Amino acid sequence: MRHLKNVQQQIIRKFFMLFGSLKNNAPEKIINIRFYTDFNICNYSCPYCIAGQNDKQNMTTRWDSANLDQIIQNLTYLPYKINVRIGVKGEFFLSKKLTEGARLLSLADNVHSVNLITNLSFSYKQYENFLHGFDHSKTSIVASYHPSEIKDKEKWIQVACHIKKRYDFAVVLVGYPPFIKDLLKIKKELTGYGIEVFVQGFIGNYNGREYPGAYTVEEKKLLRKVFYSRHDYEFFAESKKPGLCNAGYRSFYVDMTGMVRPCGMGALSPVIGNLLSNPEIKPWDGPRPCMYDACLCDTENINTVIFEQHYRQTGINQHKYIYRFKNEAEKFPQMDEWKINY
Ligand code: SF4
Ligand code: SF4
Repeated sequence: MRHLKNVQQQIIRKFFMLFGSLKNNAPEKIINIRFYTDFNICNYSCPYCIAGQNDKQNMTTRWDSANLDQIIQNLTYLPYKINVRIGVKGEFFLSKKLTEGARLLSLADNVHSVNLITNLSFSYKQYENFLHGFDHSKTSIVASYHPSEIKDKEKWIQVACHIKKRYDFAVVLVGYPPFIKDLLKIKKELTGYGIEVFVQGFIGNYNGREYPGAYTVEEKKLLRKVFYSRHDYEFFAESKKPGLCNAGYRSFYVDMTGMVRPCGMGALSPVIGNLLSNPEIKPWDGPRPCMYDACLCDTENINTVIFEQHYRQTGINQHKYIYRFKNEAEKFPQMDEWKINY
């Protein structure tokens, strides 16, 4: 019976692969999918949590484990090579359902990679158990570093070093105003272990001021030194207004109700599919102008055409990339990432 179900699923999948490849506007490149699952249980209470962990009484969620199964199945039927980033409102590995869903994605033919995020609060042995049966070559992990919550920094770094040996791995820090002065030191320490570090700007209210718009000149000077790239600095610290964007063309945002939108920035984004109903997305035929004033998500702003023109991803991790003209800039310093008109 189970065998028959598998065969049936393979036939459906092949049909959609063939059907999709015949469409004129089917993207040829790998497409990025951000799947925001709304899973909202966390063992930390970071002061800057934008997922709402500090306001649990008012926290809302659309988490639905039956929807999760259906959406994951339909993701594996999509007629494209996909790079999926699974988003949460809590700690990913506290959910067995999510972990199992990610494992299935990592094993699917059309999945190029699966990007997961964790606060790295477990032992390496526990991570080995969580990730048992995954296709490790397709699994990328980002660990968020939360200074106020980590009890044993040395142990945290040890786990990070173990994970780095086996997975495409990076650490993300948050540009929370009281922590900014420490970010450079933390970054230096982690990069000393060969760990790549990027910084997400703080989004929210601190001392009555709304960030990231409220970053002071002094804070920006410090942030410039720690951001992963000029691109991140411009989008997070300077709230750069985006131009043309590949969202809706080569990147999509899926929520827990199955709705597919070009990106996760809000209600202006039109619906272009529903992965609860069927494995079909109607991509646009090219990049379109962004309708928002700023793009403040670490993996949304890399959808922009300006990013694609100036940066190249280095592997399966959606947030690891290099400046395309690094070599040229060694010969012609005016082409340096920080000197060009960006
Ligand atoms: S680990 Fe993430 S989800 Fe949990 S409290 Fe911290 S920022 Fe929020
Ligand atoms: S630039 Fe950001 S906000 Fe604008 S469409 Fe692209 S992903 Fe969405």
